Amino acid sequence: MVKCRYCGCKELSKDGIIKGIRRYKCKRCEKTTRENDQRYKYSISTRLRVLKGYLEGGGIMVLERLTGVPNPLIIKWIRNYAKILGE
Ligand SMILES: [Zn+2]
Repeated sequence: MVKCRYCGCKELSKDGIIKGIRRYKCKRCEKTTRENDQRYKYSISTRLRVLKGYLEGGGIMVLERLTGVPNPLIIKWIRNYAKILGE
């Protein structure tokens, strides 16, 4: 089941296919969501687990092994997190 990645609404209408991936348009907020969106492959709980592990002094390679998240992505998440904190 595809959900809107902006508001979580499940009422989506089909909005064409781009590069072989079906696109949906949210009926509530009118934003588009793609099927199997890679950016949302990992859940919030996985992200938090990675960030928590990092803050507790875990190495990126260790976190990669523990969570199965590729290390370039872990680095990206840490950078994003630092940006939110304004560091
Ligand atoms: Zn929406």
